[in-house]
Amino acid sequence: MKQVYIETLGCQMNKSDTERMLGILSHFGYTQTQDEKTADLLMINTCSIRQLSEDKAFSKIGSWGKRKKENKNIKIGFCGCVAQQKSKELFKRAPYVDFVLGTHAIYKLPEIIKRVEFGEKVCECTETPAAGQDFEIKRVKSVNAWIPITEGCNNFCTYCIVPYTRGRERSRPPGVILKEAREALAQGFKEITLLGQNVDSYCAQDYRLADLLRDLNKLDGKFRIRFVTSYPSDITDELIKTAVELDKVCEYFHIPMQSGSNEVLKAMNRRYTAEAYAEICAKIRKTVPDVTITSDFIAGFPGETEEQFQETLSAMEELELDYSNTAAYSPREKTTAAKWTDRFLPEKVKTERLARLNEQNKKNCLKSNQKFTGRTMEVLVENFYNHKGKNVVTGRTRNNKIVHIPSETDLTGEFITVKITNARTWYLNGEIKS
Ligand code: SF4
Repeated sequence: MKQVYIETLGCQMNKSDTERMLGILSHFGYTQTQDEKTADLLMINTCSIRQLSEDKAFSKIGSWGKRKKENKNIKIGFCGCVAQQKSKELFKRAPYVDFVLGTHAIYKLPEIIKRVEFGEKVCECTETPAAGQDFEIKRVKSVNAWIPITEGCNNFCTYCIVPYTRGRERSRPPGVILKEAREALAQGFKEITLLGQNVDSYCAQDYRLADLLRDLNKLDGKFRIRFVTSYPSDITDELIKTAVELDKVCEYFHIPMQSGSNEVLKAMNRRYTAEAYAEICAKIRKTVPDVTITSDFIAGFPGETEEQFQETLSAMEELELDYSNTAAYSPREKTTAAKWTDRFLPEKVKTERLARLNEQNKKNCLKSNQKFTGRTMEVLVENFYNHKGKNVVTGRTRNNKIVHIPSETDLTGEFITVKITNARTWYLNGEIKS
């Protein structure tokens, strides 16, 4: 058997793609290794959402290029979103790379590997998604199985590279999704997370996300269902109602707001106003008890004024968003906003606004966590480790709060009942209720 090491950067969609690649490679004589030094095949699955992530990918393959000078037999693959975006150009920048594999061509891996093993350099970055075949998925050992239900995006937010790297939105057939869910549950996974750039626009011939949730909820056994990411204006009343009615669907919504200013939202080509976003949050909070709503925000979008930024800070505070991913605006090649160089804000302004967003985020998180002190909650255990001489398990509540609990036993994969003893900014502490 040959060994493959895959480094994965970016979102859960990329992690899910890596699991698919590992599944395919396992049928062609490759086993996964966590040690890049022993690998015959080194692959990086890249993310192009921010410059930082792209830089990280190039720095990593740079180090692999040096290793290849000592061992010419090593093969190097550059995959994922940056591969899709840069295509053949990558061979110029990194001549030691053997193959470039875009986001649409994962299922062509067997053929690519064969050609690479014969010494060919291969670039497979088609614009059209290759037809998926039925390969086993090598899931990372954990309690949570990620299942993509949609791929690509039609929204073309002016800052976002995804429609260019992942293509137009496609919904996977319900039968395939349900089959993957059944297999994951049979393997012992306790949580299914449905993935998509806009998970709530899932539509396979009139079969919508709410239908899929209902069918998944019928599967046997105790497990949880989550879905991310939601586009604000695609969340329907039916979806909220269905989510609250189904016992396995968790009380958790991830709904990126991006900005609290209507002018900035318009410039971002987001199809909702700050008021409409607030209404959706209010509706969810009213219908779903103990719900956690998380969001994403961009600081320093081109042309964003201090007043407009203040509107974002106020929205974050007033909507009591439980947690937010934050980032300073980073121009991405091909996107509309990247051309507005005359409106770019100085790095110093972006960094300072990002720091203020993070401060507000911290306050929101602590306030949100404090609501649960003294409560009894169900936790699905994800990890067991020793922290400063004490054995601890860590898991998540249904509403996605991380809880640390002292335990002498490894309870990974078990549902336990926990009393929350205190709240910290990023997590809760608890004790097992006997
Ligand atoms: S909705 Fe906008 S931000 Fe999200 S993936 Fe699509 S284009 Fe990107």
